Amino acid sequence: MKNEDSVKFITALETGDRNLMRQVPRADVHNHAALGGDFKKWVKKEGLDLNEGAHFFPDFTDFQNLVDNIFTYPYNPPTNKQQRDRFLSLFSATYELAISDGVTYIEPGYDAVILDYWEMDLEQMISELKAQVDLYSDRITIKPDIGIIRVFNKKDIERTIYPCIESGFFKALDIFADERLGPPEDFEEVFHVAKQSGMKLKGHAGELLDADFVRRSVEVLDLDELQHGIAAAKSPEVMRFLADSQIRLNICPSSNIQLCQSESFKTHPIRILMDNGVKVSVNTDDAIIFGQKSTDEFFNLYETGLYSAEELDQVRLNGFPS
Ligand SMILES: [Zn+2]
Repeated sequence: MKNEDSVKFITALETGDRNLMRQVPRADVHNHAALGGDFKKWVKKEGLDLNEGAHFFPDFTDFQNLVDNIFTYPYNPPTNKQQRDRFLSLFSATYELAISDGVTYIEPGYDAVILDYWEMDLEQMISELKAQVDLYSDRITIKPDIGIIRVFNKKDIERTIYPCIESGFFKALDIFADERLGPPEDFEEVFHVAKQSGMKLKGHAGELLDADFVRRSVEVLDLDELQHGIAAAKSPEVMRFLADSQIRLNICPSSNIQLCQSESFKTHPIRILMDNGVKVSVNTDDAIIFGQKSTDEFFNLYETGLYSAEELDQVRLNGFPS
């Protein structure tokens, strides 16, 4: 027998009732804390005359430029204090959007470079981030990730990531940004230390590179979950490996389409991955840029006619810790 939430979720999809879906618990476990807000609302709140810009990025550099603009505009460059305030405002926007969309569990990814803007005062940073998390914790469960950007060298990692691991504030370690930079082998040691500390290990792979890179990332870094991982759909062997090892793929369909890694929701590889027994969840990645909330992502897939409401309910449930 299905529980009440599943019945509500299935009815919401079948009747196109977004309000009803907002009442059903959902998880967002691939969400970059500084980029998860509602663009229009955030710009208005900050009083910025910033343009939303394009919604398709055939060139990854255009995406990076928009991100930089969101982080720093109109300062050139911002002071540490201005940059800190900007990040705190963006993190708030992320929590507010998730709550308004009815998301009940979120794993926001904080980029480790933020420590520099707190002038490497880890205690101060954690206390400010924690105070912010506490403001929302009666409405949403927040389990923060710390993310290594792939351009980090050994020194950067020692300077920022090890203290973050020791802080206990972050529950998972992630690695992100253009996967053509920085091979997984460069990060093996810090991932090992994070696992020893009881953290969950996540990694961005298979967004821009191929299925072999997905497998190599999982094996080298001992990952528990993949952010994206969609390139695995091109290899039955890699899909079997992921299914057998119970590695969940935290997929963001709108992000993949707008970054031109998939043509449409209809052709998105999530269908192939599910058909091959790979566990998937559906998430938003960077809602401030892609303009799609968790509810939208489920409707976008359902409206292709390729997924039953029951299947998407299982995808919804997959997002929660087991
Ligand atoms: Zn991501």
